[in-house]
Amino acid sequence: MKRYDYIIAGSGLAGLSLAYYINQSILRNKSILIIDKEAKTKNDRTWCFWEKGDNHAFDPIVFRSWKQVYFYGAKGFAKALDLGDYSYKWIRGIDFYNFVLTDLRTNPNITFLTATIERIRDTANGGFVITDEGQFMADYVFDSVTPLKLDNPQRHNMLQHFKGWEITTPQAAFDPSCPTMMDYRVEQNGVGVRFGYVLPIDTHRALVEYTLFSDKLLQPAEYDAELHTYIRDYLKIEDFSIEDEEFGVIPMTDEPADDKNLKYVIRIGTTGGYVKASTGYAFSRTQRSTQLLVGQLLTAGVPLRQKKTIRQFFKGLMDSTFLNVLLYGRHPGKNVFTRLYKRNPTPRLLAFLDEDTRLVDDLRIMSTVPLVAFTRGMIHALVKRI
Ligand SMILES: Cc1cc2nc3c(=O)[nH]c(=O)nc-3n(C[C@H](O)[C@H](O)[C@H](O)COP(=O)(O)OP(=O)(O)OC[C@H]3O[C@@H](n4cnc5c(N)ncnc54)[C@H](O)[C@@H]3O)c2cc1C
Repeated sequence: MKRYDYIIAGSGLAGLSLAYYINQSILRNKSILIIDKEAKTKNDRTWCFWEKGDNHAFDPIVFRSWKQVYFYGAKGFAKALDLGDYSYKWIRGIDFYNFVLTDLRTNPNITFLTATIERIRDTANGGFVITDEGQFMADYVFDSVTPLKLDNPQRHNMLQHFKGWEITTPQAAFDPSCPTMMDYRVEQNGVGVRFGYVLPIDTHRALVEYTLFSDKLLQPAEYDAELHTYIRDYLKIEDFSIEDEEFGVIPMTDEPADDKNLKYVIRIGTTGGYVKASTGYAFSRTQRSTQLLVGQLLTAGVPLRQKKTIRQFFKGLMDSTFLNVLLYGRHPGKNVFTRLYKRNPTPRLLAFLDEDTRLVDDLRIMSTVPLVAFTRGMIHALVKRI
């Protein structure tokens, strides 16, 4: 059986980010097998995220970047929010795959295998991967393919699900200088919260999405109907053509991920807890987490377990509380978001969502949420865990 230093199971965002940072370091001399069931040749998703500066690994493939975003909230609140030092960036999936794969293919130590992974196991001698194209061993397996179980009653599990259409219009209909990050004017029904999202490409072309944070998916036709309504009633566009579409489901869960790591099998990506529970954003966290992992491999030679600090406990509790408030309908989600964006400078909120704020900023932000709902949500989140 062929043995490698590392096997990267899944060459999506996390697997390719990890491989990219490995390939930028001395670890590029390790033997690496990258397995995926698909060749990454489709533009299968859109990644948006915020960050400061324009000197990052993937800046060369940023498709669009903005310094402000529109927000439409409850009770007529509408504003273009200034992002301060941050930019809101858009990277297209296909550009990311091509950029990273081109870089990796220059390294003869990296082998690519298109195969379906059937099982990943920890053994006394390393990580063991069974695929429909053979079996492989490695010192470490980095696993982004094992699905997350979302059924722990002690935790909160929601889904962020959305459908998007890239549309073109005969008349100018979009402001290319400013995307709409959240548009809560849409009808709110049932558990959670719903909003529109618009990423303009130029004045005649945009990706328009209808997004929900809720406990259940809609029927496919419902996303289409809601998108039609949003485009007609809120964007005031009657005439348009659909050029492309995307659909996504992202788990929003406070299920701890670290505990699932084994001695030689390390989870990365969505299954490794890289998705921020309260927002569904994962791109930036994936970059930070995979860079940290490469740093550990370089300095310690092994992936290290993260020490749990009080600060991290508090951040995790904030996520759980937020999910609890939405899931149990303790306060209308659109009012919660409106209060947050109305009463806080946007850069502070973005730093908070990046878990990059000081305690004093966290407390400032928490003082702007509906206190009764959040206190109840926090107590319930703690009780559930006990
Ligand atoms: C449509 C969409 C849009 C998103 N937009 C954003 C966004 O704007 N901003 C943001 O921060 N996050 C976004 N996300 C969330 C998150 O960034 C992505 O889901 C991200 O791709 C997660 O990375 P990952 O590596 O865990 O999973 P993936 O990127 O899905 O990679 C997993 C890989 O494993 C492979 N695989 C799975 N099972 C097997 C198997 N059994 N055998 C072999 N290979 C297998 C898959 O083919 C895939 O290539 C979006 C998600 C989706 C679905």
